[in-house]
Amino acid sequence: MDYQEFSENQKIISDWILNYFKKIEEIPVLSDVKPGEIKKLLNKQPPQKGKTIPELLSEFDNFLFKGITHWNHPGFMAYFNSTSCEAGILSEFLISALNLNGMIWKTSPVVTELEESMMNWFKEMIGLDDQFWGIIYDTASISTFHALASAREQLNLEIREKGVSGRTDLPKLSIFCSENAHSSVEKSAIALGIGQENVRKIIANENFEMDLNELRVKIEDDIKNGIKPICVIATVGTTSFASIDPVKEIASLCKQFNIWLHVDAAYAGVAAVLPEMKWISDGWEDADSIVINPHKWMFTPMDCSIFLTKKKNILKNAFSLIPEYLRTQQDDEVDNLMDYGLQLGRRFRALKLWFIISNLGVSGIQEKIRNHITWAKEFADWITNHKYLKLVAPVHFSTVCFQFITDSNSSIEEINSNNQKLLDLINSSGKIFISHTKVKNQIVLRLTIGSYWQEKRHIEVAKNVIENSIIGLLKKD
Ligand SMILES: *Cc1c(COP(=O)(O)O)cnc(C)c1O
Repeated sequence: MDYQEFSENQKIISDWILNYFKKIEEIPVLSDVKPGEIKKLLNKQPPQKGKTIPELLSEFDNFLFKGITHWNHPGFMAYFNSTSCEAGILSEFLISALNLNGMIWKTSPVVTELEESMMNWFKEMIGLDDQFWGIIYDTASISTFHALASAREQLNLEIREKGVSGRTDLPKLSIFCSENAHSSVEKSAIALGIGQENVRKIIANENFEMDLNELRVKIEDDIKNGIKPICVIATVGTTSFASIDPVKEIASLCKQFNIWLHVDAAYAGVAAVLPEMKWISDGWEDADSIVINPHKWMFTPMDCSIFLTKKKNILKNAFSLIPEYLRTQQDDEVDNLMDYGLQLGRRFRALKLWFIISNLGVSGIQEKIRNHITWAKEFADWITNHKYLKLVAPVHFSTVCFQFITDSNSSIEEINSNNQKLLDLINSSGKIFISHTKVKNQIVLRLTIGSYWQEKRHIEVAKNVIENSIIGLLKKD
């Protein structure tokens, strides 16, 4: 492409994006394609001759668009919605144009130094001090993997050198998390040779918080049986219920038994930017590591996960491996970020954070998050006062769990069938998309606010869709 053509194509894509945001509310939020439908539309063979960008965009509209579930749609209220603000979108344009790889400081000093500086901004925003050092990974799953790898490294069992297989000199290792912890904890245990059966899932109380007594008993049991507890994962904002484990009390148990404490605040951690929500970070100063995802509730395009640790050197001991061709004269003066993780290559993700934090300002981010929490609490009040809806978990953040109960004597089967029907009806509206979870084998509906693109009126839309769906179901009966 010459400059002229590049410039025209760039305009075409920008206009497409603008138009997309203008009409997004008219598009059904959830894609209704059947499995395999998109694949069938595509050519089996790659084209021999190149196509123009306008040709591609028209194929995109015709064949790919219908397979999109629209995360930036204001009606996207499922899972934890990940949305991208304007500054984030524009920064990605620049990031791909530069295409920097910050594997070592020298391969683009700005990648390493802006990342360090953004980690300091972020710590300042959520009120953490300089004991913590931060790095960006792609996802919370990978951040938690690095936490567990560090917890394992800390034991000095020569696992790095000798591995785990075939060794009779190693104790079994175990890790602890609540029954509501994210599945990434177990995946890390699988990958790190700890084993899925050595993940102790601690029961939670009626507010879905990890039970401290049970945690202590399980740790002591393991020690008695010659098993070595290496890490507790406390969750602030669990995936199912957005509940909060008692971090401070867990931290003192970890201290007593010399166990690594990792705080998984992937979704909810950003809320600590609000002075009135600062209490959620109680005990974080006693953690060894913390993960928070800007790509969840800080309007950052996928992907961007912040990992903070007090034990930078242990992380480095776990992963640093420097081949001759990557040695530089600055190695004693700088951090080479490849030394702090599994990956070599490193995208310029810090630029997204710089754009977003600078463009919205801390106060802009605070205002959005404060609104989301307020709207979620108002929505929860509506649920509480509704004849047929019941609030299932306390609402601390922007996620509301509820159930549709028409008769207090309903069996579990009836409750599940009714809630499944309501969920399907709500999601077939095209106007909103919500998700579900389970408690004691019962289906629970789950609505999350937290999109950059949501306004208060979108919560009213959600209420209307839910109300009309309930009326529809009751009529059928
Ligand atoms: C979403 C989530 C994760 C996983 O996040 P990824 O970035 O997709 O890996 C982990 N823990 C919690 C609490 C989450 O909400």
